[in-house]
Amino acid sequence: MVAAMNPCPCGNFGNPLKKCTCSDKMVTGYLNKISQPVLDRIDIQIEVQPVKYDDLYKRVKQESSAAIAERVQRARDIQAKRFKGTQIKSNSRITPDIIADVCAMSPDAEETLRGAFEKLGLSARAYDRILKVGRTCADLDGSEKIEKNHIFQAIGFRSLDRKYWNR
Ligand SMILES: [Zn+2]
Repeated sequence: MVAAMNPCPCGNFGNPLKKCTCSDKMVTGYLNKISQPVLDRIDIQIEVQPVKYDDLYKRVKQESSAAIAERVQRARDIQAKRFKGTQIKSNSRITPDIIADVCAMSPDAEETLRGAFEKLGLSARAYDRILKVGRTCADLDGSEKIEKNHIFQAIGFRSLDRKYWNR
């Protein structure tokens, strides 16, 4: 599932370049259309900032789509090999009985996740999702173990609910 939404009725809440004309109550009411349990079940949540004219004009050189596709295919191949002979097709489908084996972390990564769990008050569900997304970040990196930076990335993909929903 891929979905997108505005942060408020006028669409400008959180936009550094434009002023949001909604009342606080309107913003809260708008965001509350998506409940926390629903939000919890979405693996990756990111905020897309408006494109600035200069960036469009200069066409900043970025990693090409072809190069990204190649990296994604490599990560897919790693997963196909990992789950060979099982019903599982991708990291998002990792079941609780194998999660500890499949999502092995370096000691650093483990400490980072433990710290985040306590500091951010993550739910058990969010914890598992971070681990699975962290597994994918590690696969994209060609790393056998989940390292600290992969946990940071995975946590970053879940920061929207704290920024907007739990203001
Ligand atoms: Zn607004």
